[in-house]
Amino acid sequence: MSNSKIAEFLAKGNIYSTVGITVEDHQELDRLLDASKRYTFDCYCPECKIDTTFYIYNFESYWEDLKTPKLMITGVAPGGMSNVPRFEKSEEDKYKELIKKNNLFCLTAHCVRSSAHPIWIFIKLEEDKIIKIGQYPNVRLTLYPHVSKYQKLLSNYFIELKTALSLYSNSVGVGSYVYLRRVFEKIIFDKYNESKNEIKISEKDFLLAKMDKKIEMLKDYLPAFIVQNKKIYSILSKGIHELDENECLKYFDTIEQSIEMILDEILEQKSKEVKQKSLTSLIANITGTLRKG
Ligand SMILES: [Zn+2]
Repeated sequence: MSNSKIAEFLAKGNIYSTVGITVEDHQELDRLLDASKRYTFDCYCPECKIDTTFYIYNFESYWEDLKTPKLMITGVAPGGMSNVPRFEKSEEDKYKELIKKNNLFCLTAHCVRSSAHPIWIFIKLEEDKIIKIGQYPNVRLTLYPHVSKYQKLLSNYFIELKTALSLYSNSVGVGSYVYLRRVFEKIIFDKYNESKNEIKISEKDFLLAKMDKKIEMLKDYLPAFIVQNKKIYSILSKGIHELDENECLKYFDTIEQSIEMILDEILEQKSKEVKQKSLTSLIANITGTLRKG
């Protein structure tokens, strides 16, 4: 099952990010704001620690004028009473009127695997968009449980990768690039230290070289992906010096996933080396045994 843009926004949208809506989305919003319809979306469950499905169990809305019940939407848990008038797709004006009075909602979603795994999402409806104003737990951050596999490889830089993700989840664009760039540099410097005896380039020359050149110097040792995509570093630097917050946030996923791709290649290479070493020693043992025999 794939998420609609609204479902994707509920599951993965950062705090203060928005999703554009048009009259075509009113029907979906109508389902979202009627808990008896059990609106579902795919999301990572921090308790189950897997991607699963959540459904809207209930919600509360905050309105200015209690005397206008016909514009009031009230959440009803499945099986509860639902006799509140709804807005309909064709009634665009009614929607506009609704959001004037009643536009803040706290949605409670439950994991389908257990009702003891709730997440709360606060949204504000506007005429042409929905804004996420809060979420607990911070699902966005726990969306990355797999990064723990890089902990050993990155050692004390692992926390920097986590900080980049944490800043991004709080919609801090430029700051998240600072930490991602440090992780990128760590990969390059580690590779230099591992292979400096073979490449025979002095530390001074290496340090003075621009990043493009550094990658070129290490091209036989670095993962192919980083050599083919050395521009990742220029994008990170541009993000820190020139791009605005929104531009940084827009490209974050691609850049962060590229760094994960590089780390994956390094991990694969390392595990291959360990396996080769162990097989080589086993073959030597067999050869020794056969000689004796
Ligand atoms: Zn769960």
